[in-house]
Amino acid sequence: MYKRVLLKLSGEALSGEGGKGFSEKMLTYLVNEIQKIHSLNIKLGIVIGAGNIFRGKELKDFRIQMADQLGMLGTVINSLYLKNVFEKNGIKSIVVSPIVNLPSVMPLKYDFIEQYFEAGYIVLFGGGTSNPLFTTDTAAALRAVEMNADILVKATKVDGIYDKDPKLFEDAKKYDIITYEQAIKEQIKVMDTEAFSICEKNNLSILIINFFKEGNLLKAVEGENIGTKVNY
Ligand code: UDP
Repeated sequence: MYKRVLLKLSGEALSGEGGKGFSEKMLTYLVNEIQKIHSLNIKLGIVIGAGNIFRGKELKDFRIQMADQLGMLGTVINSLYLKNVFEKNGIKSIVVSPIVNLPSVMPLKYDFIEQYFEAGYIVLFGGGTSNPLFTTDTAAALRAVEMNADILVKATKVDGIYDKDPKLFEDAKKYDIITYEQAIKEQIKVMDTEAFSICEKNNLSILIINFFKEGNLLKAVEGENIGTKVNY
């Protein structure tokens, strides 16, 4: 079983695919899945995107560095929103972010983060990498290395990485394991190459799972052979 886990969720995990805002149904699902692993006493960090609010590249009339700042703020909004939802469901969590100074947002300090984990809090890392021109996949890789995670679990809506598009080809085969070298060479789109490269350099594996199959997150954390593992 993994003991230190960084979970990367897209903003759409809060709104439903292609949606904006927050969906009660999605939040209930998310809380249930998190509750299953929270009781295992693991140290859990979460990086959440902002696709349900703003994605920089969707704001066509904006300079990208401006649009990306809105995106990063969106990740803080999502983190605070999630903190509130967790709280209502008896799950202790704390939001840390290097980009905003608000009463409910703590600064990103490694020593404090360790203390939050020790005290049983889930740490919600808001604000992306704090730089425009990046995505929350890269932020997830950074924070995973910083928190010394055993695994970065990327929550997706696909069962893993395939050798070809399973929607188009019946004989498409899912990889159980691939290397970073292969993932980068084959331009596997499931995660940024920046994220792959940070994880590869720091000997951290990424597990791509279908988060929307009930129980998959628990299986992933327990080390069951699901999804696709990207290995160094
Ligand atoms: N963003 C950024 N720097 C970062 C992380 C995020 O500028 O380090 C911005 C960027 O505009 C991005 C948006 O925040 O589109 C939301 O993140 P992302 O697209 O990764 O969200 P997701 O698709 O996972 O919901």
